Amino acid sequence: MRRLFIANWKMNPMTVAAARKLFAGIVLGTAGAKNAQIVVAPPVPFLVALPKNRRIALGAQNLFWERSGAYTGEISAEMISALGAEFAIIGHSERRALGETDAMINRKIKAALSSDLYSVLCVGERDRSDENFQHIVRKQVLADLLNVPKKHAFRLVVAYEPVWAIGTGKTVEPRDLFEMATYIRRTLLELFGKSLALRIPILYGGSVNAVNAPDFLNVAGVGGLLVGGASLDADEFSAIVKNI
Ligand code: PEP
Repeated sequence: MRRLFIANWKMNPMTVAAARKLFAGIVLGTAGAKNAQIVVAPPVPFLVALPKNRRIALGAQNLFWERSGAYTGEISAEMISALGAEFAIIGHSERRALGETDAMINRKIKAALSSDLYSVLCVGERDRSDENFQHIVRKQVLADLLNVPKKHAFRLVVAYEPVWAIGTGKTVEPRDLFEMATYIRRTLLELFGKSLALRIPILYGGSVNAVNAPDFLNVAGVGGLLVGGASLDADEFSAIVKNI
């Protein structure tokens, strides 16, 4: 089975030269990787600075739902697509922490899908001590994908990223990941029906590294990984991809 690996560079690295070097390292390091689809999501200015690569697709980390107009500082899905990106990460917890709501995320997802971008919806609970944490994730999926047309659903990806695991060194237990992936799949089934829901990759993200990656990739129902910190090290990220 082909796995999807997404490198979320966040607001890194600092310069175009460093971005090109990191990308070149990933191209080299992942050469010969089998059954892997790789996406690099750099800061938007680097989308144009990175060379086109047949094996590695580019993605944005955010976008705005309007096509154009008086929206200072925003970037539309069309613009991102025109820069050569094929993917967009939407609803990352770091953006939710800045005030992005499910209603906003829903508009972004629809805009991305309408522009033929693969949309990577990030969901995840803040804290497992809340006994309703599964319900919280379900509510996010339902609200963020509300009225997404079925004809676009084949371009959806869902990344389960528990907030407590992002950048902390803590990770989810494989058994808990299986439960959550199954729960998310069931929610997708309610929204889109069985055949579409089974086609939507569910990724795991949160403190993934080359050592722990196989633990998550071996979980049934998990179609790949969304990698933050470790994707800034070409060797580490390449080792994650080559682990399968
Ligand atoms: C992320 O930001 O999506 C992420 C998973 O980060 P990290 O791998 O650093 O935990």
